[in-house]
Amino acid sequence: HCFSSILLDDSIHNTEEADEEDVVDLAANSLLNKLLRQSLVESSHRVEVLQKDPSSPLYSVKTFEELRLKEELLKGIYAMGFNRPSKIQEMALPMMLAHPPQNLIAQSQSGTGKTAAFVLAMLSRVNTLELFPQCLCLAPTYELALQTGRVVERMGKFCVDVQVMYAVRGNRIPRGTDVTKQIIIGTPGTVLDWCFKRKLIDLTKIRVFVLDEADVMIDTQGFSDQSIRIQRALPSECQMLLFSATFEDSVWQFAERIIPDPNVIKLRKEELTLNNIRQYYVLCENRKDKYQALCNIYGGITIGQAIIFCQTRRNAKWLTVEMMQDGHQVSLLSGELTVDQRASIIQRFRDGKEKVLITTNVCARGIDVKQVTIVVNFDLPVNQAEEPDYETYLHRIGRTGRFGKKGLAFNMIEVDKLPLLMKIQDHFNSSIKQLDPEDMDEIE
Ligand code: ADP
Repeated sequence: HCFSSILLDDSIHNTEEADEEDVVDLAANSLLNKLLRQSLVESSHRVEVLQKDPSSPLYSVKTFEELRLKEELLKGIYAMGFNRPSKIQEMALPMMLAHPPQNLIAQSQSGTGKTAAFVLAMLSRVNTLELFPQCLCLAPTYELALQTGRVVERMGKFCVDVQVMYAVRGNRIPRGTDVTKQIIIGTPGTVLDWCFKRKLIDLTKIRVFVLDEADVMIDTQGFSDQSIRIQRALPSECQMLLFSATFEDSVWQFAERIIPDPNVIKLRKEELTLNNIRQYYVLCENRKDKYQALCNIYGGITIGQAIIFCQTRRNAKWLTVEMMQDGHQVSLLSGELTVDQRASIIQRFRDGKEKVLITTNVCARGIDVKQVTIVVNFDLPVNQAEEPDYETYLHRIGRTGRFGKKGLAFNMIEVDKLPLLMKIQDHFNSSIKQLDPEDMDEIE
């Protein structure tokens, strides 16, 4: 933490040298994804289920009616436009709504319906006659907590006696206030404060505990420990639910520490592949030369929309200015922007208002813009050791096999970077052809 604040200071004082690479901020990306999400993300994989008691029958539901929800909750679900449970909800909802309550660890990529599922569980378990916190949901940031709260408000639109409150920094509660809201959504630090120091929440009365975005949570210093302290004070009959978009070992270890006797549900994500992408490279002398090559490609083929990746903010800015001066309509997406600004740029691009999006690694992952026909690596993705960053390469260029239309990818390579490109080619065992930028006939 100290380290990052030192870096931050540095960048303020040395704006001249602000040639940073954008680091991927998990919480910001997650929020961005939510702001941009238009519908459910599909997966062709089957949901994997690991029951804590393998001998008990495994229920799944195909309709929301089968769940025997309160009338007003069902109305809320339909008012949101949901017709049937998503793939993960089919398995998760019966477990989450079972009597006695069952604990659950669920992993699936963002957009598959996790939030809607646990919001439904919380709403269905609230006793509206009791005016104290009954459901507690931990989120990694203030903004993410608000997003979840919005879902509670939309889904609970007809549950008029259910209310939400945010335990986030800045939400000041006067001394002596009695918290009467049944659902509390907050960040670990403030929730801890409200529970132990200020005694606004009585943890022994919590019935449902949700830990959302566990992967983002453990990425933030202190949040794992704070979450565990909160969890330790919950009654044993409290239902505990944990959600994560990814499942590295670290998330898994944390999940097992914090959720006793869990059922586990996983939905693997669609794999990215380079199979239906034609990849090319152009050898260049320097930055100017790369730009020239880019212009030739631009002049040589019909391009729908393009995303151009640069390794540093400075390069991205430089390229944006060059292209604008040459009369192209481009927009720049980089880490200096707020999440709202990023969302609006991506939305404009999706709507076709700009043809070219220039970006740094902030945008390499997660943000799908399906109509993009070409991707350009103006700089190759490399890691700190100046080795190729294979993951990022795949995320920039790859498509999911199932939805993948054919795509084109161009790598602008300075001669000394050629060995890196060859490593990438070997790593993915897929060919990257050299292109003479004066002769575009090779492409089509
Ligand atoms: P996650 O928490 O996994 O990111 P969300 O619960 O936010 O996923 O759902 C992603 C999107 O799909 C949201 O726009 C949400 O409103 C919508 N959604 C969720 N469940 C359903 C459903 N059963 N039917 C239709 N849309 C749904």
